[in-house]
Amino acid sequence: MDGFAQLPLGRRRRLAASISCRGVGLHSGASITLTLRPGQPGQGIVFHRTDIDVTIPARHDHVVDTRLCTALGLPDQKEARVGTVEHVMAALAAAGIDDAVVELDGPEVPILDGSAEPFLFLIQCAGTTEQPGTLRAIEVLKTVRVQDAQGGWAELEPGEEPFFDAALSIEFAGTAIGTQRFSLRVTADSFREELANARTFTLAEEVNHLRSLGLAQGGGLHNAVVVDGPLVLNPGGLRRPDEFVRHKLLDVVGDLALAGHPIHGRFTGHRSGHALNNQLLRALFADRSAWRFAGAAIPAAETRVPVAA
Ligand SMILES: [Zn+2]
Repeated sequence: MDGFAQLPLGRRRRLAASISCRGVGLHSGASITLTLRPGQPGQGIVFHRTDIDVTIPARHDHVVDTRLCTALGLPDQKEARVGTVEHVMAALAAAGIDDAVVELDGPEVPILDGSAEPFLFLIQCAGTTEQPGTLRAIEVLKTVRVQDAQGGWAELEPGEEPFFDAALSIEFAGTAIGTQRFSLRVTADSFREELANARTFTLAEEVNHLRSLGLAQGGGLHNAVVVDGPLVLNPGGLRRPDEFVRHKLLDVVGDLALAGHPIHGRFTGHRSGHALNNQLLRALFADRSAWRFAGAAIPAAETRVPVAA
């Protein structure tokens, strides 16, 4: 497969063709068909549920739940929800797709193997192409920080234009996860090579709890890493020793893609997750002096990262 090329800043990209797959929803257990379709110029990424004919923009201000995954919704329409958007969002962002319709016939994105790799594969099979319209990026101008009551925190600060750098640390004392750290300049290539195949994970005790609540009905060892104390229960073990923190960084890429534009800046997180990722975007956009649109007008920005071949 060809490598990802770098393209001039300012060109929007879409899929060259539509492509579908079918898989199970992690929480609902429902069998769901996902179709990625080319988007209109300037449309951004939107989710469309064909079963209830509802369209939801993939934007941070439409996030309605961050407890187990990132879920999008419409205000005052309880049924108008799409769950587990983060892995397909990460793949679309990493592949440089600016405009797309993510069509679903059910309430959540299929979990597939628990990573972003199958979505990246679909995008690469469909191909991508430029389309009219100006691509604008969000340049972080000053540090924005959010934290939670459990000692977790996340921040965005100005970085090296036009890049997005991310660093994350996680702590799960007394488990096979332990303390892990990972940092990366996120490009199409680095995402594909370092993050894309890292699977979602959960603790065995949480699985039982979630099932008792009617959640995680579609979950299993084929689509999540399950950790029981010092043990990884999956027969094949881990894809990488630090698969856990890599997956959390994949989630950061997907959650921050809900900014609606590529972010140029530096992310740092400690024990952060979907909730803090969303709060961070809300805090960024609440402070108009903390960011500005960057685009082709910036002389230093000659290439845009990431984009897909
Ligand atoms: Zn995830």
